[in-house]
Amino acid sequence: MRNAKPVLAFLKVEGGSLHPLAPEVIAAGRRTARESGGALFLAVIGSSIAAAAEEARSYGAERVFTVDDPRLDMYRGEYFSAALKQVCALTGPVIVVMANTVDGVDLAPRLACLLEAGLVTDCVDVASENGVLSFIKPIYSGNVMAVYTAATDYFIISIRRRSFEALPKGSPAGEIMPVAVDLDAVACVVNHVGQRIEEEAGIKIDAADRIVAGGRGIGKAEGFEQVRSLAETLGAAVGASRPPCDLGWASPKSQVGQTGQIVAPSLYIAIGISGSTQHLAGMLGSKTIVAINKDPQASIFKVANYGIVGNYEEIVPGLTETLQGMMK
Ligand SMILES: Cc1cc2nc3c(=O)[nH]c(=O)nc-3n(C[C@H](O)[C@H](O)[C@H](O)COP(=O)(O)OP(=O)(O)OC[C@H]3O[C@@H](n4cnc5c(N)ncnc54)[C@H](O)[C@@H]3O)c2cc1C
Repeated sequence: MRNAKPVLAFLKVEGGSLHPLAPEVIAAGRRTARESGGALFLAVIGSSIAAAAEEARSYGAERVFTVDDPRLDMYRGEYFSAALKQVCALTGPVIVVMANTVDGVDLAPRLACLLEAGLVTDCVDVASENGVLSFIKPIYSGNVMAVYTAATDYFIISIRRRSFEALPKGSPAGEIMPVAVDLDAVACVVNHVGQRIEEEAGIKIDAADRIVAGGRGIGKAEGFEQVRSLAETLGAAVGASRPPCDLGWASPKSQVGQTGQIVAPSLYIAIGISGSTQHLAGMLGSKTIVAINKDPQASIFKVANYGIVGNYEEIVPGLTETLQGMMK
């Protein structure tokens, strides 16, 4: 096969454990390796990573390369790209797979520059035809699926969360191969002075299996209490379209869409949301979509599996109460 090169899945270590998206990154790596006919290698990079490397072995990769250096304790693009470049030099040319996280969108282009590699960010699928490997990503707010082929020696993809089903753990396999990287010559302009993590109330939408989202149709900040109450009843996270976030009715972290979070829960309830392309870009991957909207012509109904036409203020309290009764 033209693309039978190994695939290297980059796994970040956070607080001594693998990043929560690691099983999805490994799944994307395994899938790419299967399509390309190459082996799957893992690159576990961070500081004090012994336990994470051992955990990585349980995903059945052929080899686990590790880089352990105190300068990699938190994400700094210069150090991580230099470390990963040196692992690539040892294992490559390779296709590098990483998560399309905040760190990933910084690291992927840095590494692409260092390796003169092709790059597809926000990739949702991998395919091959006649031995040519291709990578698929949604563009124009998800209205078009673009297909890219890997024409460079090295090639990098960052994957959208929930696009590849996380691999389950198995028996430990694959040799751990520590890599001694040289970071002394790396000019890192970022100095880490501290970290403040803002605690969020409730379930985070990026990890939620159910989301109840409100839009401008909620009408006022107090209206979101009904959204929250339904979400709580369902054990769901609270999401929102952009206007409620801009208006301060909902946390900016709850924004779903092109400039918000991309989610793919098993249940997405959209209340008072019209269904703009920018909003759909963030939630079309949901398994079941329920829309509540007073306008029967609203675009959201075109993508909804179930629709309720009417004023949410007359629908949501009764729905919440009924569900509460059913869950007793
Ligand atoms: C570059 C760019 C990026 C953007 N990124 C995002 C993004 O990430 N996420 C996002 O969501 N938007 C984004 N937007 C904004 C987007 O274009 C839309 O303006 C926005 O999604 C509309 O939000 P909405 O559906 O809540 O509001 P509207 O479009 O105003 O829809 C409100 C809906 O509520 C219904 N309604 C009103 N009252 C009730 C009621 N009492 N009961 C039931 N239904 C009712 C109405 O019928 C209507 O359908 C972006 C725009 C741009 C230009």
